[in-house]
Amino acid sequence: MASETTSAEGRTFAPSPEFAAQANATAELYRQAEEEGVDFWGRQARELLTWNKEFTEVLDWSNPPFAKWFQDGTLNACYNAVDRHVEAGNGDRVAIHFEGEPGDSRSYTYAQLKDEVSKAANAMESLGVTKGDRVALYLPMIAEAVIAMLACARIGAIHSVVFGGFSADALRSRVEDGEAKLVVTADGTFRRGKPSMLKPAVDDALSRGGATVEHVLVVRRNEADIEMTEGRDVWWHDAVEAASPEHTPSEQGAEDPLFILYTSGTTGKPKGIMHTTGGYLTQGAFTHKNVFDLKPETDVYWCTADVGWVTGHSYVAYAPLVNGSTQVIYEGTPDSPHRGRFWEIVQKYGVTIMYTSPTAIRTMMKWGEEIPAEYDLSSLRVLGTVGEAINPEAWTWFHRVIGGGRCPIVDTWWQTETGAIMISQLPGVTTAKPGSAQVPIPGIKVDVVDDTGQSVPNETSGFLVLREPWPAMLRTIWGDDDRYVDTYWSRFGEMYFAGDGAKRDADGDVWILGRVDDVMNVSGHRLSTPEIESALVSHPSVAEAAVVGATDETTGQAVIAFVILSDQADAEGRDKAELAEEMRAHVGKEISPIAKPKKVLIVPELPKTRSGKIMRRLLKDVAEDREVGDVSTLADQTVMQQIVDSLAK
Ligand code: AMP
Repeated sequence: MASETTSAEGRTFAPSPEFAAQANATAELYRQAEEEGVDFWGRQARELLTWNKEFTEVLDWSNPPFAKWFQDGTLNACYNAVDRHVEAGNGDRVAIHFEGEPGDSRSYTYAQLKDEVSKAANAMESLGVTKGDRVALYLPMIAEAVIAMLACARIGAIHSVVFGGFSADALRSRVEDGEAKLVVTADGTFRRGKPSMLKPAVDDALSRGGATVEHVLVVRRNEADIEMTEGRDVWWHDAVEAASPEHTPSEQGAEDPLFILYTSGTTGKPKGIMHTTGGYLTQGAFTHKNVFDLKPETDVYWCTADVGWVTGHSYVAYAPLVNGSTQVIYEGTPDSPHRGRFWEIVQKYGVTIMYTSPTAIRTMMKWGEEIPAEYDLSSLRVLGTVGEAINPEAWTWFHRVIGGGRCPIVDTWWQTETGAIMISQLPGVTTAKPGSAQVPIPGIKVDVVDDTGQSVPNETSGFLVLREPWPAMLRTIWGDDDRYVDTYWSRFGEMYFAGDGAKRDADGDVWILGRVDDVMNVSGHRLSTPEIESALVSHPSVAEAAVVGATDETTGQAVIAFVILSDQADAEGRDKAELAEEMRAHVGKEISPIAKPKKVLIVPELPKTRSGKIMRRLLKDVAEDREVGDVSTLADQTVMQQIVDSLAK
């Protein structure tokens, strides 16, 4: 049992002596990282990965912020994730237990996975995909998603996964920005017991653009009745099943791109975050081994993230496989067909390490602890969270109800851009403080600075920055080096600006305070304020829109939109509730159902400064039901009163 004490920040939880004694990572790791500098990462890269050609230089930072890690080394990501485990005699170990939403399941050993990725790579090559080509993946959370990612890596093609919940238009713009040659999709998937469609969105996207796409490879998942375009569309089971299971992985440079993943930024246009191979895999494997205390021979690891997000890249498709783990992937939602589904999966596979989101935990808390109590969760030994801050109440619930009071919890802070975990407890070392991600992992240099870039003392809020380059860092924004420099490296010179506020407590532990830019975090998903505003404004009844992220008990933040009606809509005098619903649906269609505002509030005016900038801070006060703050910089100081009055009606 972990020992528990109380500090100024609340209860703390020290690792048990038994856990600490068997942990992969000890405090020695921090000392080594400090002493060895970048060579620490060189040593990790050699120990954790198999290289075709060894690198001679760990880091080239001669042209910041364009880092080159292990530059003259060569390797293949898919070989590291799959083949080498078979060659080492572990071909019979299960790599993936796939659990479908309806309850169908299939396990893949490493030997079977090697055949599947080889066949998929051959099939893609026969469709004309070669090294450096972009392949868009628009898939549900099924084993073929991981297989397709690895097959791209095997060829040296660059995958760009588009979350299956995104709209046809979001898919089209990502396909166009990356100039994808191939799209891999499925007929559909299952969502809460019902089949849902994916392929029609691909057809829709490609009917309006995406001229570079030559073929669409379609996995049959839910037998939905879909159309196949002659000459363009190919069934996965035809192409892949017919292909040879022999395929030689291509030799990639450490700095060759591995993937692009689009994420929301502070403008309407999503950013294609580009990651390369050697450094990304090194930090992913290092953190997966040490932060989750992975024992590949005995652990069953389950990360609940979808491959559409970065967590599903780093901690589903790559690091666990590179480390030779057995992992579970699950297609569905936690409440289908019943609210005990997650715990049933833990029990069924004997999951030992579980990595999930605070929103999922808060949702399960609401459903009640009698649900997990019906399942045997005694196999669990390490728990992890990611995507948003976890409130201490949810942390202690997770610890007590799911972890039986015995499992360390790691609260991992990182971003699409950082590629791998940056701040987290080490489970056998750190005394955990619920609500804080606490300490940078060994080899990472984090700071909290004021707006001039000076470090702030403990117990003072500031901006979270990274002081030194790190192996899994993004290398650029696809096709836009200037935006890369501007967004992340211009504010504080040679420091990376993460976009998050943070403070260190009296012990120096880091607490993340949320975004300081126009990015919202809903259920751990990043959404951009301007992107949703522009979707709203594209609705014919909307003249102007402003969106804020208001604190929400379950999802961390919720999108609240304030809109002014167009003159025509105003004149028509339609029912406001009906209009608001129509606007919510419109955002769902334009971007994704996850971007739908929780509420659309129709107001007569928006609060603006004299220079015309919308003061979202004041709207946030309204959305969070607080007294409205200082209005002195507004051009028209009566606006907030008008808004409050109009909503009271
Ligand atoms: P994404 O790139 O979509 O994964 O979003 C990254 C953002 O999620 C970060 O900039 C933070 O705002 C937030 N985030 C991720 N992990 C944590 C965490 N452990 N605690 C607090 N915020 C987090």
